[in-house]
Amino acid sequence: MYKNMRGCGLEGYTLQKNLNAPKMEPSRTAIIWSMTSGPPELVPAFAPLTRLSEEEQLFRVSVREFARREVAPKVRAMDEAAHFDPSLLRQLFDVGLMAIDIPEQYGGQGGSFFNAVIAVEELAMVDPSAAVIVDVQNTLVTNALLRWASEDQRARYLPPLATHLVSAYALSEPGSGSDAFALRTTAAEDGDHYILNGRKMWITNAAEAGLFMLFANANPALGHRGITCFLVDRETPGFQVGRKEDKLGIRASSTCELILDNCRVPRANVVGEVGLGYRIAIETLNEGRIAIGGQMLGVAQAALDHAVSYARQRRQFGQPIGAFQGVQFELAEMAVDVEAARLLVYNAARLRDAGLPFVTEAAMAKYHASQAAERCASRAIEVLGGVGFTREYPVEKLYRDAKIGRIYEGTSNIQKITIAKALLGKLS
Ligand SMILES: Cc1cc2nc3c(=O)[nH]c(=O)nc-3n(C[C@H](O)[C@H](O)[C@H](O)COP(=O)(O)OP(=O)(O)OC[C@H]3O[C@@H](n4cnc5c(N)ncnc54)[C@H](O)[C@@H]3O)c2cc1C
Repeated sequence: MYKNMRGCGLEGYTLQKNLNAPKMEPSRTAIIWSMTSGPPELVPAFAPLTRLSEEEQLFRVSVREFARREVAPKVRAMDEAAHFDPSLLRQLFDVGLMAIDIPEQYGGQGGSFFNAVIAVEELAMVDPSAAVIVDVQNTLVTNALLRWASEDQRARYLPPLATHLVSAYALSEPGSGSDAFALRTTAAEDGDHYILNGRKMWITNAAEAGLFMLFANANPALGHRGITCFLVDRETPGFQVGRKEDKLGIRASSTCELILDNCRVPRANVVGEVGLGYRIAIETLNEGRIAIGGQMLGVAQAALDHAVSYARQRRQFGQPIGAFQGVQFELAEMAVDVEAARLLVYNAARLRDAGLPFVTEAAMAKYHASQAAERCASRAIEVLGGVGFTREYPVEKLYRDAKIGRIYEGTSNIQKITIAKALLGKLS
């Protein structure tokens, strides 16, 4: 359990290693690789996907309690103000949710990727904006640092990331979204520095972030093989956070433009090596999109829960509307959507933690979960009738928040391209 889960009724626990390993069974075993625990362990091959280990279950409950107690009261005001409450951000650090997979030696929680997905799902049930802040910090930036950064970079950045430093992942540009490797930000070598010039768009967490994992091309003649990943501190001369977007959904999550005007970044801040950025970008996003699936799963589950609760209470024609088969069928279809999303998301996350191929499954998970979120939120509004359409109830916000799932970390079309490539190979 989370050693830092203060203020949510579950204080004093210490995170146990290998949270994702269910109890061992003597026969029929498969190898599972836990990022934090080192050597592979034997776990039952037939463990049901949705059956969490005791530790995972405790973790889920504590995040749920935190979300309901601390996040829920602030959601509406944050959505209306399009601003994430700084005191809540502080709490996310205090309870360890901004450092789920950072090893304990750097001050983090030493959890698994699966834990991060559960956290994102649980937060999204209450506020998808809070979920995406945690998502970017854990499943993109620290995840990439753990895999690709030098020991010096880990020592410099992981401890502050575990306590107070918010991070952002800056790949997209005005002219390169789906076609991410067409990015035009350049990095020119200058002694022991690189000079970065260009513009980034749509960068989540940018308003709050102190650290930007940013992609620029150090050798455009080489095409995507010139793309390089840099760690850029917010205070770096020549770096500026620009305009903040006014959005349909996840309004409390900041999305900003970045301007790089002769921004001087030390060579020591190149992640991996020069020219490796395209691999870092794609491989990190392949993992990150599982957690976006988790975010959308949370949205879908919340929509279903609100609809079920309302269907029990609301009476028309002398009975609860849940007694009408027309409403029951809506709820049943929503439940199937949610269950399918959960199976896809958990399977992809478990495969990733097991060190097994997961890219196609991750694309399927994100593709389906984002569709399920949209469908369930839409249906929930209808089950609630007129009040569902108002800001009195949370379902209209879930509907707005669901839409982003089909856009960021690869649009639905991009997920389908990945899935089709696995079916057909490269045809042209
Ligand atoms: C709220 C928000 C937060 C974001 N956060 C971040 C962030 O933190 N970091 C970051 O780097 N980026 C971020 N993004 C950017 C996001 O990843 C891109 O918006 C997304 O990848 C799509 O790129 P695009 O907007 O340029 O759309 P385009 O790539 O222009 O796509 C437009 C349409 O064309 C379709 N299309 C494009 N290419 C093909 C193809 N080959 N085949 C079929 N259809 C295609 C797409 O599916 C889409 O429907 C964020 C975006 C938003 C809206």
